Amino acid sequence: MNKMEQNTQTYIDQVDRVSAHNYHPIPVVIKEGKGVWVTDVEDKKYIDMLSAYSALNQGHNHPKILSALKTQLDKLTLTSRAFHNNQMGPFLEKLTTTAGFDKALPMNTGAEAVETAIKTARRWGYEVKGVAADQAEIIVCQDNFHGRTTTICGFSTDPLCQTGFGPFAPGFKVIPFGDAGALESAITPNTVAFLVEPIQGEAGVIVPPEGYLKACREITQKNNVLLITDEIQTGLGRTGKLFCYQHDNIKPDIVTIGKALGGGFYPVSGILADNALMDAAFKPGNHGSTFGGNPLGSAVASAALDVILEENLVDRSNEMGTYFMEQLRAMNSPLIQVVRGKGLLIAIDLTEAAGKARQYTEALMKAGVLAKETHETIIRFAPPLVITKEEIDWAMDKIRTVFL
Ligand SMILES: *Cc1c(COP(=O)(O)O)cnc(C)c1O
Repeated sequence: MNKMEQNTQTYIDQVDRVSAHNYHPIPVVIKEGKGVWVTDVEDKKYIDMLSAYSALNQGHNHPKILSALKTQLDKLTLTSRAFHNNQMGPFLEKLTTTAGFDKALPMNTGAEAVETAIKTARRWGYEVKGVAADQAEIIVCQDNFHGRTTTICGFSTDPLCQTGFGPFAPGFKVIPFGDAGALESAITPNTVAFLVEPIQGEAGVIVPPEGYLKACREITQKNNVLLITDEIQTGLGRTGKLFCYQHDNIKPDIVTIGKALGGGFYPVSGILADNALMDAAFKPGNHGSTFGGNPLGSAVASAALDVILEENLVDRSNEMGTYFMEQLRAMNSPLIQVVRGKGLLIAIDLTEAAGKARQYTEALMKAGVLAKETHETIIRFAPPLVITKEEIDWAMDKIRTVFL
């Protein structure tokens, strides 16, 4: 074993020793990143085709966001919401104006945003819809991924996410994803909300039938049920629209956002909703977060939004995604069953004969392309939205060596 291999292996061995084994990472140890590129501890360069599960839409270490972070670091980082700070208001003004909602409620991680959405829907159910105390139901989808808190794991249908972590909170009903009729049948007088990912990312980039969200919007409206779209992964340009629900020309009642809102620098999440809902659900003291809306996160998220808008990352995602998907399909690899996705949220599903996805993600790594398998047979390609055509061509040359 040469010295360089020892280097990587030493870090991996250390993590095996001192970290809980709740992940199974690709065996690469990254030390630097810039745009779509990362460098490992042996100075080997890779193209990042995962983007931290879409938290790096603006690319690694974006100079504008870095500069906003550094400027704010020298001034003020945390006040708690016991006091006002001069960063949160301007950030939320930008966010709500851009997204087209009256108000936002800032949190930190995606799971917290989803929890906040659940609380909003339940309070609205009791205060406005008139559901009897503790009877509120929320409908969710088979194969959902909304985070890792116990409430959220409780309505997961993935045994890996759930087994051994109960007892779980009641009040959730699971229906198949992509089936608007199933939603209509599942609604009862106690239903307060339908929580759905516009495209199921963790399930393997599962794109629902055309018009699905539009039908869900009509059904929820007709039945006085809130529509909550979880845009934590699909939002902020990832699928070629600012929010994925815009492909269906609808407006949900609540939108959860996170991941790329922090520009890859800092955890920033939140929910978006209009006044009727926000004002019905929240009053001083009934919800909060020590770090939510802090000035450092607000300054970072504000710059992260600027980058998405100023660099036209939404259109870019659309154009580059179309190009990338065409290239992947044109490979006609006998190992690939289907290429699917929207914008730069893309997955390939392997054929049965191809065997497990992990061997391919490890081979891709050796070739210089970092991607991650999801489940046994699916590989997601979701590079930063700043990716260029030349960079996709570079990646395709490597991808071809693995699949042809
Ligand atoms: C990542 C993700 C979450 C959870 O976000 P965390 O920041 O990891 O808590 C929730 N919903 C969706 C759709 C996600 O992709």
